[in-house]
Amino acid sequence: MADTTPLTHADWQARAAAVKPEGRHFIGGQLLASRSGATFDCINPATGAVLAQVARGDAADIDLAVSSALVAWNDRRWRGLTPRQRMDVLLRFADTLERHADELALLETLDMGKPISDVLDIDLPEVLRTIRYFAECIDKIDGAVTHTAPGSLHMIVHEPLGVVGAISPWNYPMLMAIWKVAPALAAGNCVVLKPSEQAPLSCIRIAQLFAESGGPAGVFNVVNGLGPEAGKALALHADVAKLTFTGSTAVGKLLLGYAGQSNMKRVALETGGKSPHIFFDDLYDLDTAVDRAIGGIYDNAGQVCNAGSRLLVQRGIHDAFVARFVARSAQLYTPGDPLDPATTLGPVVSAAHRGNVLAHMARAREQGARLALGGADTSLPGTGAFVAPTLFTGTDNTMDINRLEVFGPVASVTAFDTEDEAIALANDSVYGLAAAVWTADLKRAHRCVGALEAGVVWVNCFGDGDMTQPFGGYKQSGHSRDKHIDSLRSYMQGKSAWFNLA
Ligand code: NAD
Repeated sequence: MADTTPLTHADWQARAAAVKPEGRHFIGGQLLASRSGATFDCINPATGAVLAQVARGDAADIDLAVSSALVAWNDRRWRGLTPRQRMDVLLRFADTLERHADELALLETLDMGKPISDVLDIDLPEVLRTIRYFAECIDKIDGAVTHTAPGSLHMIVHEPLGVVGAISPWNYPMLMAIWKVAPALAAGNCVVLKPSEQAPLSCIRIAQLFAESGGPAGVFNVVNGLGPEAGKALALHADVAKLTFTGSTAVGKLLLGYAGQSNMKRVALETGGKSPHIFFDDLYDLDTAVDRAIGGIYDNAGQVCNAGSRLLVQRGIHDAFVARFVARSAQLYTPGDPLDPATTLGPVVSAAHRGNVLAHMARAREQGARLALGGADTSLPGTGAFVAPTLFTGTDNTMDINRLEVFGPVASVTAFDTEDEAIALANDSVYGLAAAVWTADLKRAHRCVGALEAGVVWVNCFGDGDMTQPFGGYKQSGHSRDKHIDSLRSYMQGKSAWFNLA
């Protein structure tokens, strides 16, 4: 019987010392260096150590990968399989990843700084669910036969698009990539993925494991490199039918331009957020609500697109909310070595990003926000890019801390009096990814759901959901949806076939 004893901190450290991550591209079923020979350092943010030399791809490597995907598309080695055959490969792919869970978790933790327990308990199960869900959806996509005149037959069929380019971020490196890659593959497309240069290692590995699971060569390719080099080349490539992106709003806007400059490819954007998390004084249970508020901003060290970074709290419970938040945060988040299974708060992704987060904190203080928790002057373990869980109070929407995405463990509290005021504060943002409301009043909850400008609204919870939940934003948080069977449909196009039978 397999040994199921959980690995200890020492076990993970020993494995980490032995790991030799792969840094090459995966193109046409082969690991390849960049054509230029260029590489960049891949850094462990918890220690500053160089983990691997990663191939620094540019337009030549993107061209090779897109050509390889196009060959696979044209000879129908993937889309020509029966739905059941494609489903079987994807289900095997999920099983293979599950067998490599420890290896993938280790890569993710070393590369991105995410606590190993989070990868094993959250990211990986979610990756497997995503692949299995879209595999199971493959034969659930129906076309239509419409009612037309006698002597005619009209069918609407759904076909894959061709070569899909995917560009992913570093905050959930494997999961954000799989939210794109799994539905694109399930639909029958071939994929070229450009993972974030901040955390590419797990994506390189999963593409290899797709091939080991029977995925044909050229169907799932990975090209590493920097955004303005490899990413831009992918976005400009004339043989890419659709570009699917998760990342910042600023880069999302660039991609729309690249599509226009090249072949008018479809562009699907999942971008930034500044989610309002609203607490009315009639909520059921303050303690539960506060715990969820804390998780909503400090999970993954705040590097979450839908993080509940704007806490809007009704004045009657404001002081009790803040006091409880400060007291509970220290109990819920244990900073430490992300390889230690007891750690619940790892470093942020890089020293440079830590600098950005600290600059946001300094600006908040300059603009009059009061520091209630954390801040820059907290001692935290190791030499890595740690940021203490931080809370500002006394904030309003004139301050940058309420307007700009920090993408770190930093929340602000703004007091409000009325429901109308809460909604106005919540909607006063260029972003509209997610929002949440805590209230015991069902009518108020319904009113708020209708009034909030966000793609996802949670009531009396935060961050809950499953694969049936379309996930994406309003306004400048993007306009596409991940998860849900509609995501698979978005990697297909409809064809009308009209038969003259007279
Ligand atoms: P980023 O925009 O800096 O990078 C994302 C990807 O885009 C990376 O692979 C990067 O190499 C690439 N890129 C950068 N410049 C490019 C260019 N000129 N052309 C083509 N590609 C380019 O974002 P990030 O720092 O990796 O991730 C954090 C951001 O992602 C945050 O804004 C966060 O809110 C957002 N995000 C959104 C969601 C969502 O579902 N809406 C989920 C996760 C993260």
